[in-house]
Amino acid sequence: MIMRFLYAIHMAYHYRQALRLYTQAACRDRVTNLTEITLAWLQQRGIETLVLDFDGVLAEHGATKPLPEIETWLNHIYAVIPLYVLSNKPLPARKLYFQTRYPNLTWVAAPRKKPYPDGLIQITKLTSKPSNTIALVDDRLLTGILATKLANTQGIYVTHPCANFKKRPLTESFFAMLRFLERWVFV
Ligand SMILES: [Mg+2]
Repeated sequence: MIMRFLYAIHMAYHYRQALRLYTQAACRDRVTNLTEITLAWLQQRGIETLVLDFDGVLAEHGATKPLPEIETWLNHIYAVIPLYVLSNKPLPARKLYFQTRYPNLTWVAAPRKKPYPDGLIQITKLTSKPSNTIALVDDRLLTGILATKLANTQGIYVTHPCANFKKRPLTESFFAMLRFLERWVFV
């Protein structure tokens, strides 16, 4: 845990200019949420494989399945592009959900969590495609987006993550604080 934190700080400093670009409104590689992503949008960026983070991107923290509007989006995108999920919290209930609903989606759990690039490197090997045709969608600069820099894939930053403050006030406040810090203090 502490090693991952130190690694994140060290690498975030190294890639601070690349990360800072994602904090700017003009950045073309950010969306408010997943539903903005269409096949045409992906094709414009040369993206052939889409990797999704779970918490904040598919659903709020701790949820076991995506939000209904995200599920609708998944049903469309699932038919047109290979999908992977790379979460730092690979709960068995989440894995089971995808196995049942989206059997062609690949669930990846790397031993070393993001920002270590291991999961993205594993996916790159599975696809046998150039790493820059793969994109990870993530709501965290110092975990997911940093991992994309280290693995030389594309990164799509979600600026308005899914959150349920009523259900999990402490967890959601903690992650909102982390997102604020990484946007305004670290990079
Ligand atoms: Mg997340």
